[in-house]
Amino acid sequence: MQVVRELDVVKEIIRDLKNKGMTVGFVPTMGFLHEGHLSLVRTAKSENDFVVISIFVNPLQFGVGEDFERYPRDLERDRELADSAGCDLIFVPAAKDMYPPGYATFVDVDRLTEGLCGASRPGHFRGVTTVVAKLFNLVSPHKAYFGQKDAQQALVLKKMVQDLNMDLDLFILPTVREADGLAMSSRNKYLNSGEREEAPVLYKSLLLARELVARGERDPLIIGKNMEDLICSARGAVVDYLEIVDTEELKPLKSIKGRCLVAVAVKFGTTRLIDNIFVEV
Ligand code: AMP
Repeated sequence: MQVVRELDVVKEIIRDLKNKGMTVGFVPTMGFLHEGHLSLVRTAKSENDFVVISIFVNPLQFGVGEDFERYPRDLERDRELADSAGCDLIFVPAAKDMYPPGYATFVDVDRLTEGLCGASRPGHFRGVTTVVAKLFNLVSPHKAYFGQKDAQQALVLKKMVQDLNMDLDLFILPTVREADGLAMSSRNKYLNSGEREEAPVLYKSLLLARELVARGERDPLIIGKNMEDLICSARGAVVDYLEIVDTEELKPLKSIKGRCLVAVAVKFGTTRLIDNIFVEV
């Protein structure tokens, strides 16, 4: 497995592979890999000849006062995990190469980015779509893999690929969870032991929503109130948002119908966790 930092080198390697008729799968990440990332890599490996992971903590997608500086970074650890999952190349660009002085081009997806994490983190998705568009141009994969854990991000990127006629297929794979239901995330590392104990309440609240719907409840306000009560019973938990939206436009629903996305963001101290599930009637 190679580790490549230079932008033109990665382009050249991929060009050569494609000239030989090989297919390329791509998993963009911010590193500090866990089983959620590795599940994407394994699927990519099963569907492509060559798999690239990018590791880039993208300054553009972090707001002022967010965790850009303290975001966990450990390339040695990532290298071993990526290798064990079948990755062929880790691309680790430097911020100064991705955004050299005078950099001026950004990608924005309208509407889908307004609610949920877009409302709590202004400018976040502009950073995500810009960096992923750049990474797609550098790696030019046949297939790219993203996690359902970041449901809004995955939908926004799908829209970008569609609207900009990008020549690749984008796949969204299921959320990988810890044994107690907590969605795996590099940010879980920030949690102290008390917070870690309480953190599964996000998933519990989503399961509660599913159970209420199964019992016939169709009012998002009532479901939301039950979820909120449960989350607030966890020590230190502060709800950032809690929404039931449609799966295409991500607009809040007035009543539960068809396939819906239940999404939550909860803060424990300075750590913000997100999770979601689908419910269907
Ligand atoms: P990140 O490094 O957090 O930017 O995540 C990189 C990719 O891994 C994104 O497509 C995420 O949605 C995906 N991912 C993160 N956590 C999980 C998880 N628990 N299960 C599945 N995919 C995940």
